[in-house]
Amino acid sequence: MKWEDNVRKVVPYVPGEQPQKKGIIKLNTNECPYPPAPMVEKRMKEIAYEDLRLYPEFPEQTSLTAELAKYYHVKENQIFVGVGSDDVLAMAFLTFFNSDKPIVFPDITYSFYDVWADLYRIPYEIKPLDENFCIRKEDYMGENGGVIFPNPNAPTGILMDVNTIEEIVKANQDVVVIIDEAYIDFGGVSCLPLIEKYDNLLVVQTFSKSRAMAGSRIGYAIGNEKLIRYLNDAKYSVNSYTMNRPALAIGAESVKDDAYFKEICGKIMATRERVGEELKALGFRFPKSYSNFIFATHESVPAKEIFEKLKEHDIYVRHWNKERISNYLRITIGTDEQMDALIAALKEILGK
Ligand code: PMP
Repeated sequence: MKWEDNVRKVVPYVPGEQPQKKGIIKLNTNECPYPPAPMVEKRMKEIAYEDLRLYPEFPEQTSLTAELAKYYHVKENQIFVGVGSDDVLAMAFLTFFNSDKPIVFPDITYSFYDVWADLYRIPYEIKPLDENFCIRKEDYMGENGGVIFPNPNAPTGILMDVNTIEEIVKANQDVVVIIDEAYIDFGGVSCLPLIEKYDNLLVVQTFSKSRAMAGSRIGYAIGNEKLIRYLNDAKYSVNSYTMNRPALAIGAESVKDDAYFKEICGKIMATRERVGEELKALGFRFPKSYSNFIFATHESVPAKEIFEKLKEHDIYVRHWNKERISNYLRITIGTDEQMDALIAALKEILGK
């Protein structure tokens, strides 16, 4: 048993269920219900079998970084790409949160943050959201070792305006502030323009939600050249090549089709607004969502009960047995047909 004393023990992050059963309605991990951009399919077919023999491009000089740089009007050396934003965020924790002072993040937020902090032995302080589940900006303006939160926050879907983010970044110029914009494309305003003004701001985004490519595992960070260089230094000290050739090629293809990207985001937002009204009529309430999910609680029926009963209808949503949010369900916005099936099932469950 002695060797076990020397093991780096961690309580791992628990991802949402990935049921493999056919025919289910999967509204539990915020995937996009629409396919990736059509050119992605074509590009996938063109990817040569022979290509797999070779290592991928250098991570800081890929076809993907080039397309992203063009799209966001930044330099290529202001972009860091990784295997999903989880990879990018893990690298950012390792690289930037190296202070003895605690980093700060909300109590209700992406539940990977405390896992990375524990893994890397980063001290942290959890700041409770207010009674309306809003982030209190003052909590992030004291002395700390770094700041991270998602905007919109997850799983609440609540958006913070760019001016408030700027106040937080400005008050923390001695540390790195990471804004996790996994859900920014569903009606939020990105704080990306602030990177020109603040060299301590890192903005992280993903292809998993708005680009319908969760399976390709692509994420990226944008920031000042210096931040990106530090990230690449850490990355090259762990594993230089993490993204595979096909992912880099199809990621670049996706960025080129802006019309399709805007079309699917628009469809999801329209469905979100319509379904929101229907959920309200069934007795649910929820904060206004700027994401591809709704975080809802019901006036009389416990969330856990609805969650279990929806499963019997082969509809999967997300529920956490966690303080403050155990009576909430996070419902990913699917297609109109999927959401109609959800509403029909809810009517049956609630006896309406
Ligand atoms: N940030 C937030 C807030 C998320 O909800 C998720 C999705 N689980 C991620 C980051 C990571 O997503 P991915 O690794 O698929 O880019």
